[in-house]
Amino acid sequence: MSALHKAEALIWGIPGGIHPAERKELSNRTPIQPAPLPKRLTLPLNQHIGAPAEPVVTVGERVLKGQLIAAATGFVSVPVHAPTSGTVSFIGSQPYPHVSGMLAPAIVIDSDGQDKWIELTPCADYRHLENSALVELIRQAGISGLGGAGFPTAVKLNARPTQKIHTLIINGTECEPYISADDLLMRERANELISGIDILVQLIQPDQVLIGIEDNKPEAIAAVRHALAERSYQLKVFPTKYPSGGEKQLIQILTGVEVPSGGLPADIGMLCQNVGTCVAIHNAVIHGKPLISRITTLTGEALARPMNVEVLLGTPVGELLEFAGLDRGKLNRLIMGGPMMGFTLPDFAVPVIKTTNCLLASTTAELPPPPPAMPCIRCGECAEACPASLLPQQLHFFAIGQEHEQLKAHNLFDCIECGACAYVCPSSIPLVQYYRAAKGEIRDLEQKQLKAEQSKQRFELRQERLRRAEEQKEAERQARAAKAAQAKAAQAQGSPAAANGDTAAAKPAGLSDEQKKLKIEASMAQVALKKAEKQLATHASPELQAQVDELRSAAAIAQQALDTAMTANPPAPTAAPVADDGALKKAKIDAAMLRAQVRKLEKLEAPSDEQQSELQQLRSQLEAAEKLLASLEAQAPAPAASQPGSPGASTCRQTGCRRWRTEKSQDRRCHAACPSAQAGKT
Ligand code: SF4
Ligand code: SF4
Repeated sequence: MSALHKAEALIWGIPGGIHPAERKELSNRTPIQPAPLPKRLTLPLNQHIGAPAEPVVTVGERVLKGQLIAAATGFVSVPVHAPTSGTVSFIGSQPYPHVSGMLAPAIVIDSDGQDKWIELTPCADYRHLENSALVELIRQAGISGLGGAGFPTAVKLNARPTQKIHTLIINGTECEPYISADDLLMRERANELISGIDILVQLIQPDQVLIGIEDNKPEAIAAVRHALAERSYQLKVFPTKYPSGGEKQLIQILTGVEVPSGGLPADIGMLCQNVGTCVAIHNAVIHGKPLISRITTLTGEALARPMNVEVLLGTPVGELLEFAGLDRGKLNRLIMGGPMMGFTLPDFAVPVIKTTNCLLASTTAELPPPPPAMPCIRCGECAEACPASLLPQQLHFFAIGQEHEQLKAHNLFDCIECGACAYVCPSSIPLVQYYRAAKGEIRDLEQKQLKAEQSKQRFELRQERLRRAEEQKEAERQARAAKAAQAKAAQAQGSPAAANGDTAAAKPAGLSDEQKKLKIEASMAQVALKKAEKQLATHASPELQAQVDELRSAAAIAQQALDTAMTANPPAPTAAPVADDGALKKAKIDAAMLRAQVRKLEKLEAPSDEQQSELQQLRSQLEAAEKLLASLEAQAPAPAASQPGSPGASTCRQTGCRRWRTEKSQDRRCHAACPSAQAGKT
């Protein structure tokens, strides 16, 4: 660590807070006990915040204590390890510790009673490791925050890779009534705690380390102070008040700095870790042991022997409570967690998981059912108690009215659900339940809105893509049609050069230069008008409509100019085509092709306007082509008699060709030498 300094042990206050009966004496008078090895352990795949782990074992497989049984999936996830040796007996839905009583995917291990470890790979000399290797070691040990939230520790250590963490805060507050797991851990494992802090310091190189402990834990304070020895980490002891252990609240108490609304401690260069997490880091790095057990408080007046136990993850809650002498007759409510932030367990079969810091088996006298909720009397006591300086009564009204925008504007998401407001409310309104429900609704809605927005964007992009493709196709089609019309017009005039695409030769014969220019202009105006009309039909808009009107006027003017020029100076008749054999063949092919196109369009049941107009045009062209053909045939010499050796020679039904045909090819493809072969099947 660069320059750890011993600053004066200043502390600051937080707004609000309450002083409920602590009741920690129930469980903190005896040392930590090892919990008995259960016959069957249930390991949920999601004991942390983030993506569930993925099983890497199969049913029937034998596993050793500490063996990886489910691998992390994704960045925010942690693996799961076998807490004891035995056989995987089931993989699937099992009871999960949740207020709803829901099931969740889990791996069940039947213990073999041997509790045999895998071979461990300790790394006592961690100071030579790269930071990334050290973080990976912590990640592979399956460590998530043991203070209650369960956020993957390796992710938290990487939260702001480019931002300097100048203050490391160690949370030994444990402010919630009844719970004494961290207290006992600090008393009995202070050296491991400091070793875990040393590892964190090696990783993040903070300027200062602050260890915060409430003054109701004198033995823990003494043990930590002793374990600190010559280290310059600051131990800060402060008065007991609930909820001083909230991450943001503790930071404010120890540094006087507030984490901004909606922000993280990393935003202000701070990182907070629970004392239990630090011990887990020590075990993972120094001993190579993954997280397979934790310290859990067993407390409540329904237990004959309240205590703290070191329990294997996956141990059924019912077995643990029996170990602590549960009197089921006295039990009124079983809570996982403390009385302020915990939740009622519907089932004894649920297992202990990484975040289970307490099991509270309470009697009716101890935690009586709350009286029926009464209307809010606007006394303001909830606001006085709120450590986040919120307006709980306002949040309550907005939550009832599902006024999500108002809830967000009043910083609902800064609520840490500590329950201080509900604790002081004279109307016994279960305020926190309203906040939890409202948060869930808002998150759901935001997820739906996000999905809808993504779908809308995908739809709009697709529409745009289709529109562009359609426009391009239309432009290409018009270009082809214009070219074909020019070529056909030229062919109708018997100009082979024009038919071959020679545009210079394709100029209409007999027209003056001025007439040709006007004709081209009229044609181009028509093309532009049709294109704009098509676009208007697809995407009607005032701008497009105005453009179409303008183009229509321009086309009418161009056509009128052409008509006037043609009337004033009719074109000279074109010279009769030369009746050579090639011209005759060409005329026959052209006529046949036009006939085929006309037939094809005539077969359409419901032709569009455009197709009808094309049909008209083709009919005119066909008429001209047939006239030309008749004229050429009249000039052609009489057909030669059938050649010997070609008994099947006959006239092609399509082209009138009388040569190079056989009976077989009558209805098939022409002979290769037949000019109609260019048009395919005739
Ligand atoms: S404490 Fe209860 S009754 Fe008083 S203002 Fe808050 S919600 Fe209303
Ligand atoms: S539960 Fe939320 S609103 Fe109520 S006191 Fe705690 S932080 Fe404030």
